Amino acid sequence: MFDLHLPTLTLACISIFWLLTVAVLLIGWQFNQHRDIKLWGVACLLISAGTSVYNLGNSTEISGLVWLGVVAAISAQVFVWWGTQSLEKQPPWWRVGGLVFTLAVGIYSLLLVNDAPLAIRISFYCLFYAVIHLMVLRILLKSPYRARTGYRLYAGIASILLVLYGLRIQFAFDTPFNETTLSHRYIFVYYMILMAEFVKFVTFIYLCFERLEYTLCQLALQDTLTQLPNRRAFVTQTTQRLEDDTAHALLLADLDNFKSINDVYGHLAGDQVLIAFSQHLQHIAQQEGALCARTGGEEFILLLSGDSVKRVQHIALQLRRQIEACQVRTEQGHIIRFTVSVGVATHRRHQPVTINQLFECADGALYEAKARGRNRIEFALTEHQAAPSSVAPMRATTSVPCEESNTDLPKRYLTRQSLT
Ligand code: GH3
Ligand code: MG
Ligand code: MG
Repeated sequence: MFDLHLPTLTLACISIFWLLTVAVLLIGWQFNQHRDIKLWGVACLLISAGTSVYNLGNSTEISGLVWLGVVAAISAQVFVWWGTQSLEKQPPWWRVGGLVFTLAVGIYSLLLVNDAPLAIRISFYCLFYAVIHLMVLRILLKSPYRARTGYRLYAGIASILLVLYGLRIQFAFDTPFNETTLSHRYIFVYYMILMAEFVKFVTFIYLCFERLEYTLCQLALQDTLTQLPNRRAFVTQTTQRLEDDTAHALLLADLDNFKSINDVYGHLAGDQVLIAFSQHLQHIAQQEGALCARTGGEEFILLLSGDSVKRVQHIALQLRRQIEACQVRTEQGHIIRFTVSVGVATHRRHQPVTINQLFECADGALYEAKARGRNRIEFALTEHQAAPSSVAPMRATTSVPCEESNTDLPKRYLTRQSLT
């Protein structure tokens, strides 16, 4: 076996802490919109400085430096705590609670530093760190993002640290009352804790990048006005869903004469109408386990699968009637009523279909709904699927009576039935 030179080991650990500190601070600097990273950066700085000063104080036997080190290490936990809360957007009174608790512990530990036996002091600090870690764990485990890898890793490391703190307390009592020479197993656990702390900080950096990636994905896949998935998200999700061997129906909904709403009431009122519509659509999508999205300005899409497809007429009608009855009050107090036209394409089981084919069918039906007077639903039923590049032959069912001419409708749509 080889002997480890403890001062060298301590120096190596402190150097790693400083390197990690620089990394966390650089990330915090680069992504300065993330307050949590900055708070963790400060924590890292305090831990590195505290560990350096504490060890310097111990080796030079200057008690003032030991005190300073302890204070820095304890206040670092406040920032860890605040950083975690910021990550999860916890209410501010939690922060105040954490600050008061840590201040109380800090003052008490300063009183302990010289007088109490080593084992008591060590137990006190370890219990304090354990409480902070338990509180952080509680936040992570209650988070809606707890299934993410970063959260799991971090929670795992925090749990390991809790066990190590327990062992450290136990092994601290190996040291007789008046001695300062620590047992080998105590020293081993101490360095294990330092290693776990390194991993904890690296995990936190991972967690921050994971969250950043998630935020970017959200921005790329979500419509900012309505918070619905955008077309890109819809196509990705739909492509997976269409691979299931089940029936599907695609509803393409377009608000009627929306431009005139903008013209009469203003663009902001138009936005309110879009938000109101998206809420109705989302409600129906949630009820039916369907996918929905905003695919363009005032154009929305809903994909039903499985048993919902049998109720597609009812669902489309429900949407149309809900919108007809909906009223949007503008900031100026005007009441806006609006309507929607819907084109529906259905697809039977056991037939491969692409999203483009369904979309084109529904688009044709929507075109017909507009041509036949708006505020109505038109159906296009795919009879069989051709090669993916071509459009499937289909029949369309449309509503009558119709005052507008439809001579310019695509030939593949045949009028059969109405639904208003
Ligand atoms: P139709 O019944 O034939 O669909 O007529 P329409 O007026 O609804 O359709 P048109 O394509 O002529 O106009 C759509 C309008 O939607 C034009 C555009 O200014 C408006 N629009 C697109 N995106 C937004 C948005 O995010 N907010 C608002 N307020 N308006 C939007
Ligand atoms: Mg429109
Ligand atoms: Mg449109």
